Amino acid sequence: MNEQDSHSFDPRTWISRSATAGASGRDCTNAIPPSKLPRARLDPKFIALACAIALGGAGLAVLNRPAIRPPTVNSPPAPPVQAMRASGRRTLMLADLSEIEPALGSSGLSGPDIEATSRQVRAAFGNVPGEIRLILDLESEGNQTRLLALEATRINGTGLLLHRLANGTLASQAFTGELTSRLSVVRGEIDSNSFYSSAVAAGVTDSLIGELANAFSFDFDMQREVAPGDIFEVAFEQSYNPSNEPVGVPRLVYVSLRTATMSRSLYRFTPPNEREAGWFDGNGSSTVRALMRTPVDSARISSQFGMRTHPILGYQKLHRGTDFAAPTGTPVFASGNATVEFAGPKGANGNFIRLHHDNGWQTLYLHLNRILPGVAPGSKVLQGQQIGEIGTTGRSTGPHLHYEVHIDGQPVDPLQIQMGEGKSLSGPALTAFHKQRDAIDTQRATAKY
Ligand SMILES: [Zn+2]
Repeated sequence: MNEQDSHSFDPRTWISRSATAGASGRDCTNAIPPSKLPRARLDPKFIALACAIALGGAGLAVLNRPAIRPPTVNSPPAPPVQAMRASGRRTLMLADLSEIEPALGSSGLSGPDIEATSRQVRAAFGNVPGEIRLILDLESEGNQTRLLALEATRINGTGLLLHRLANGTLASQAFTGELTSRLSVVRGEIDSNSFYSSAVAAGVTDSLIGELANAFSFDFDMQREVAPGDIFEVAFEQSYNPSNEPVGVPRLVYVSLRTATMSRSLYRFTPPNEREAGWFDGNGSSTVRALMRTPVDSARISSQFGMRTHPILGYQKLHRGTDFAAPTGTPVFASGNATVEFAGPKGANGNFIRLHHDNGWQTLYLHLNRILPGVAPGSKVLQGQQIGEIGTTGRSTGPHLHYEVHIDGQPVDPLQIQMGEGKSLSGPALTAFHKQRDAIDTQRATAKY
């Protein structure tokens, strides 16, 4: 199998698979640095930034909006519409609160009006970041513009209404918006291009695809074990504000993949008293194992564990690990939580890292181009954290990672380790999990595709 035939979850290969791996274009989703912890846990701030850049970096967009939206259950009464001389309405999207003064200024309001208005909005909203929609009712006479009413709404539907009283002061009223959450279910078949294109074609929001790959990182070698015709199903939740606009990022709650040899369905669940959600199979067993299937995405296995003729030394020798060939610079991840035992140049190993895992196993990473800052003896690394880059330092014939796993000090074939089942939920946690699993399954059963 060559790299072009295989299917990768590495964002670097999703867009233009014909290009040399690692050199393809980047978009809003795949601009997310692969070094984030763990492998595909995406930093929402970074996504927001990347998306803002993708949208042209416009912090302030003026939209024409015909009318203030009709009041919802929790909305305040509509502002009094008075007889106006020359009146008008503007709707502005602010990237955050810092843009309120320029926005009011660009609407023609005078200094004292801007000051009084922004003070009230700031007092109500505090310093919480995030987009704000501003609807202004304005009255103009000559070259004087006056604010009659203002509605400032956060993306979560909460907001503030200001309206001008007869005595000239601005009265304020806060309002809240109820968020509703809806589940979308998407099914598809892996096409001959890539998992990425298959998933996007099926309707999976592209920001979810890294997470989807992450959910399967213990069960499938996405590079070598997924092929055209394999079936996937994804369910994700999205919150909507009272105007039916999506709020926040969609959240993956269910993933399923069926290949020729294996089928896995996983549910996202946050066990009671734990902060992080994890992926569990239908019986409540965690997908998390001591080690990930591979420490590198999108690499070709160039040499397997076992006896072989050494490419440089020429004689038969036990190949103590697995070689993953990939371009110099390709990220190398810690395959499990560990303490760094060694990190630095070491003879024929080149730049070399040895990790000591919590269960006593060791993993070794050879010929690295670079070791990431902070990866030093005694430091802790997390499963999926980038620790280095593929290179060809030491005794090596080309860019590749030589990867070894040692159990009880003995090298074993990394691709043949039986990891067993992950930790299982029990007691009230299992009961809570079953409830959530059944709710998702019920919605999946009734979802329209
Ligand atoms: Zn090797």
